[in-house]
Amino acid sequence: MTSPIWHPFTQHGLGEPIPNVVRAQGAVLHLEDGRTLIDGISSWWVTTHGHCHPRIAAAIATQAQALDQLIFAGYTHDPAEEVARSLVELTPRAEGRDALSRVFFSDSGSTAVEVALKMALGYWHNRALDGLSAPRHRILVLEHGYHGDTIGAMSIGERGVYNAAWAPLLFDVGTIPFPHPGREGETLAALEAACTAPEKPAALIVEPLVLGAGGMLIYAPAVLRDMAAICARHDVLFIADEVMTGWGRTGTLFACEQAGVVPDIMAVAKGITGGALPLAATLATSRIFDAHYSTDRARLFYHSSSYTANAIACAAAAANLAIWREEDVLGRIAALSHGMAQRLSALAGRPAFENPRQLGAIAAIDLVTADAGYLSDLAPRLRAFFLDRGILLRPLGNTIYLMPPYCLDSDQLDLVFAALAQAGDAFAIPA
Ligand SMILES: *Cc1c(COP(=O)(O)O)cnc(C)c1O
Repeated sequence: MTSPIWHPFTQHGLGEPIPNVVRAQGAVLHLEDGRTLIDGISSWWVTTHGHCHPRIAAAIATQAQALDQLIFAGYTHDPAEEVARSLVELTPRAEGRDALSRVFFSDSGSTAVEVALKMALGYWHNRALDGLSAPRHRILVLEHGYHGDTIGAMSIGERGVYNAAWAPLLFDVGTIPFPHPGREGETLAALEAACTAPEKPAALIVEPLVLGAGGMLIYAPAVLRDMAAICARHDVLFIADEVMTGWGRTGTLFACEQAGVVPDIMAVAKGITGGALPLAATLATSRIFDAHYSTDRARLFYHSSSYTANAIACAAAAANLAIWREEDVLGRIAALSHGMAQRLSALAGRPAFENPRQLGAIAAIDLVTADAGYLSDLAPRLRAFFLDRGILLRPLGNTIYLMPPYCLDSDQLDLVFAALAQAGDAFAIPA
């Protein structure tokens, strides 16, 4: 019998193979048929230290026998308290900036982003109730951004074939051009203009330093710092979506650190549990929280989902945070990043490739080709090519990128880069 499963981002009509994975360890996936795959993209950007990390697996097993799930409205539990305290300690700080001191739990990156938007709009709504400002509803976004697939998250992301069916439902936003190297001034001028427009924006939301699904587009920390400064100057809330960039991917725990930026609101998810279980958090400064703080029930923050702060997921996150505190994770990432940089520069010398780029443990390169559109069959053909060579990669159009778990060793890196070089030979159409 064929499987009844309807897979995400999958065109079942093309009949592409859907491998069945029975086990995973470190950077390796074991298939039902005995083959193994190197997980080159951390199972969609979530696995950080490696699959089935023993400390995280043990924490899950222990918690599952003590307290599994608890209504989180009006109740609390130790794993959530511990994770929240650690998050507040670990998130970016800067002299003269309010710290991120409040933690709201949810269960996916999209939800964490929706919560961030609702907090920002709730802030302006409640300020307006107090007569402190006019209400504000406009959201500013960065061109090529991606923030998830729910309706609100799609509204603030790049529009295209992947959300055309719902376009009439998506709300209007102000789009700031992506800061291409050398053209950062255009981005900052557009942001300045949007912040001083007659309809004052409520917030700007950005993926700090790396736009993931938009094509692994990297921009300079100075631009991130300047964007945050413009927002602060015009009293526009600055929201950092660290769902992908968080947990060490860019070489620091959070990307905002590299720019000395403390956002007003920050969304984290993916690697928060080391990649073992779904959990997300939206952090906010005290002024966002205080705008909702009252004896008036009408002003409370109206958001929840059933599994908010699930105790088992929080225990996994607590174990992940302990690993970050007690082990030299950043050292491991630096070594991996160095190995990736060496091999990427060798690849970049080939005529099949252009635009090599890297930040921390994220590396990307574009295949020179005439046919790079989103609906081109290049990406699925590349996917199949890498699968045949025992490597899980999922190129974005003609952009091949790596975002491996931090335990990937140099032999595995060699295998991955050898396959990349072969893909260049097989698929590139040099000009
Ligand atoms: C993946 C991603 C999301 C959505 O997270 P989900 O857990 O898949 O809902 C949001 N923002 C960014 C930057 C992401 O990369």
